[in-house]
Amino acid sequence: MARFSPSYAVSRMKPSATLETAQLARDLKSQGRDVISLATGEPDFNTPLHIVEAAHRAALDGKTRYSPVGGVAELREAVTRKLERDNSLTIDPGNVIVSNGAKQVISNAFIATLNPGDEVIIPAPYWVSYPELVGMLGGTAVIAQTRAPDFILTPQELERRITPRTRWLVLNAPGNPTGAIYSEVELKALGDVLARHPHVWLMTDDIYEYLAYGSARFMTLTQAVPMLGDRTLVINGVSKAYAMTGWRIGYAAGPAGLVKAMGKVQSQLSSGANMVAQYAAAAALDGPRTEIDAFVCTYEDRRNKAGAVLQSVHGIQLKLPDGAFYLFPSCKQLLGKKTLEGKVIDSDAAFASELLQREGVAVVPGSAFGAPGHFRTTFAVATDLLLEASQRIKRFAESLQ
Ligand code: PMP
Ligand code: GLU
Repeated sequence: MARFSPSYAVSRMKPSATLETAQLARDLKSQGRDVISLATGEPDFNTPLHIVEAAHRAALDGKTRYSPVGGVAELREAVTRKLERDNSLTIDPGNVIVSNGAKQVISNAFIATLNPGDEVIIPAPYWVSYPELVGMLGGTAVIAQTRAPDFILTPQELERRITPRTRWLVLNAPGNPTGAIYSEVELKALGDVLARHPHVWLMTDDIYEYLAYGSARFMTLTQAVPMLGDRTLVINGVSKAYAMTGWRIGYAAGPAGLVKAMGKVQSQLSSGANMVAQYAAAAALDGPRTEIDAFVCTYEDRRNKAGAVLQSVHGIQLKLPDGAFYLFPSCKQLLGKKTLEGKVIDSDAAFASELLQREGVAVVPGSAFGAPGHFRTTFAVATDLLLEASQRIKRFAESLQ
């Protein structure tokens, strides 16, 4: 039989830990196990009706052909209105590109810019896909450390990581998995460093923008430091805010040359994004915020309730996040303890795996995000399930000896 051997790039690549854990939970469920998955960051709400109706209308109107590679004009214009309204950014629709999710926007940008050996600074804890995409292209992910409980990249740490080979700094706020949001002062301090290094480009992944709680306020980097605009790619999408993960629409706005190069990549890789979904996304961006605000209220309530349960567990440290929809507690104090069956919990991966086996709760180990000794749970799941899962985590953690 022919033996398959993957490419060098793929053999070095890790599968997405978030999606892999979600699949593991699904598989166990289909075998009849009682499993609650807190693995994937995906709203449990349905897409608001007016958005679904816009897609329906588009399909009936025959918007069922190939889309222009960079996206239909109606959506690109809706994106520019959104950036003006929410972020005070004035962008030409020609400088916007629409892709199959923010994930593809990010991939396009890296493919369009990275040569082997180029460096990309990624603050840890980071979303699992950034370093893997960089590595796949022969680039080097340079991990900048941030510290619990705030997980904010300091200007000193940024300065330390910049070299002549640095191509990008990736800034994701509200952050996955930490929920960290940068204040205007913190953004300006990073801007001072970046002003001294004009060869470093900025990729700001703002996909969790609307998910900010309490008094936390989101601001994108170029809003705080406008002079970085000519080397910043602002990335966003409809997946998280509008409960539209399955529609696969993300977008970016940035300098013309970069956006054009990303379009060239996309023209060969996948063509324009799903046409019907683009009309749905335009309706989302231009539509009312009422339902979105209700989603955010629900997330905040869940954050508070699930957070309180985990904070009450001896050996778990947790600061409630300012944004996104994840809790990212430390389980360091539990490492070295044993389960009732005598299994040693020697890592966050062992913690997550035993938690799944013993209590049927799927969480993602912190190592996948470059933060060993932590684990990530999402609170974008129905409140009763979330609270049941939180109680199970508590029972499991307190059973360790
Ligand atoms: N960026 C971050 C930080 C994310 O958590 C996700 C989640 N999937 C994405 C980008 C990609 O989102 P999507 O492809 O669904 O637009
Ligand atoms: N971004 C989400 C998460 O971190 C969805 C899965 C993924 O694309 O990684 O869970």
